[in-house]
Amino acid sequence: MAEQRLIPAGSSIGLRLERGEQLRVIDPFGGQSGDLMAFSADGRERLSNGRTFDYDGKVYLSTGDVLWSDRSQPMLTIVADEVGRHDFLYAACSPEMYRLQYGVTEYHANCHDNLISALRDLGMAPEPLPTPFNLFMHVDVGADGKLVFSAPNSRAGEGITLRAEMDLAIAVSSCPASTCNGGAPPRPLAFEIIPAAL
Ligand SMILES: [Zn+2]
Repeated sequence: MAEQRLIPAGSSIGLRLERGEQLRVIDPFGGQSGDLMAFSADGRERLSNGRTFDYDGKVYLSTGDVLWSDRSQPMLTIVADEVGRHDFLYAACSPEMYRLQYGVTEYHANCHDNLISALRDLGMAPEPLPTPFNLFMHVDVGADGKLVFSAPNSRAGEGITLRAEMDLAIAVSSCPASTCNGGAPPRPLAFEIIPAAL
């Protein structure tokens, strides 16, 4: 069994994955969304929602789908997914977003700063930060094109497993916004790294 580690509520972790290794991100309590960012280990390629839309042709990504880099290389393949609802639509929440949308004037913990600091700790130059992969986030695209988000579908212990298609530096933030977590206070996520199949 791979060792499971916590991503503290409203905080982030950084990790490196070698090609073939798998990252499993788990929602231990259920109903908690997160943001995932991936850079190639040499920092030359970054996760790209636009390229992923190009090659996957869909808004929601699940088992069998590939997350692509801005240089059109496969970065991660989703190999297992109990939740089935993740998207690539929203930028990471940021201090500016909390101010503009919710009138929060003091500093609010946010996925943008969480991902930036985790990637810096890995030696990356993360700014400007690309759009992260929104784990467990439950967004519906209406027939009129409007975006509506509701509480994540993830139940306690469910998760998503992604296989590295190149050597990667990865950051995962447990989102501190209660709005996309069904109004609940921020909770932790967890992760484990599964060795490459021999
Ligand atoms: Zn967030």
